[in-house]
Amino acid sequence: MRVYNFSAGPTMLPLEVLQEAGTNIEDYNGSGMSVMEMSHRSKWYEPIHNECIALVRELMEVPDNYEVLLVQGGASQQFAAVPLNLLTTGKADYIVTGNFAKKAYEEATKYGDIKLVATSEPEKYTYIPKTTRADFREDASYVHITENNTIFGSKYHTLPDTGNIPLVADLSSCIMSEYTDVSKYGLIYAGAQKNLAPAGLTMVIVRKDLIGHEMDICPTMLKYSTQAGKNNSLYNTPPCWCIYVMMLNLRYLKKIGGVKEMEKINKEKAAMLYDFIDNSSFWTNPVAVEDRSMMNVPFRSPNEELDALFIKGAEAEGLVTLKGHRLAGGMRASIYNAMPVEGVKKLISYMAQFEKEHK
Ligand code: PMP
Repeated sequence: MRVYNFSAGPTMLPLEVLQEAGTNIEDYNGSGMSVMEMSHRSKWYEPIHNECIALVRELMEVPDNYEVLLVQGGASQQFAAVPLNLLTTGKADYIVTGNFAKKAYEEATKYGDIKLVATSEPEKYTYIPKTTRADFREDASYVHITENNTIFGSKYHTLPDTGNIPLVADLSSCIMSEYTDVSKYGLIYAGAQKNLAPAGLTMVIVRKDLIGHEMDICPTMLKYSTQAGKNNSLYNTPPCWCIYVMMLNLRYLKKIGGVKEMEKINKEKAAMLYDFIDNSSFWTNPVAVEDRSMMNVPFRSPNEELDALFIKGAEAEGLVTLKGHRLAGGMRASIYNAMPVEGVKKLISYMAQFEKEHK
């Protein structure tokens, strides 16, 4: 039986995508082998690779002056790759809105003069700090934000005004969940294991003029210039299987109407869950209303014993991985692109039933 998996990632992929991958698992397209078994330079694999990148460009309307790179090492590797490639003035400014944002900031401090412009850590990351252009240093090479905070459930709904300073953003947990104006960013990165593909793949979308100015110490494999241009993210062996599943997932996204259609569905799912929580005197969500994430919804019952009971009961209903991150406690429902509306409805109905029984 398939469950509704509310994991923060890796997480659900559309059933149709899994089935298509399954159909081809032994013999892809008459090749007599699985995509897991074929050379990344084969005549069968290269079209998969190119279609995946082309679909990213199409679905996200990536402007021509940006490269789409498929790399490895997770979003965490980008915490180092970003400063190693972009810190041309030796300075960068960071806003810390969650645990991953803090990790990105701490990693960057190894490579230059990094300013912590604002942090919501003292308030347990329950909001997005407001900044103005004047908060950023004139000579900062870039400003880094984590656009959606997976653990604490907050999100930038308006990007910070950084003037001409390139904005670098970690979109791991909101990529392709809503329309993104790529031209507003210098660089976007995202681990694949939430809205794109199985774990093992990271996508980087970077403005071309920012490529090629890396520090001398930058490892070859972390240089964007290594995978950009003619190398087409094929400098070394890419995670072919992940890219294949991502390609299938993007085909599916295109079929259902693309990112804008997905955004409508995601808005509907999130609104249903937040409305239910806000209208309850039992369940609470700690995040400032205007900063709430559409993808990760943390919530709590009146006490930890009830939280544990809820998680156990939900599991028996096929509503799994609802335990909050250890840093946040309580519960968290991650309702990424592949979570059907029915899954959210079933969660709400179980929450209502639990509330009645335990109020
Ligand atoms: N940034 C964000 C916003 C994340 O949610 C995660 C992982 N969940 C990471 C970075 C780290 O990603 P990875 O495990 O791919 O290194």
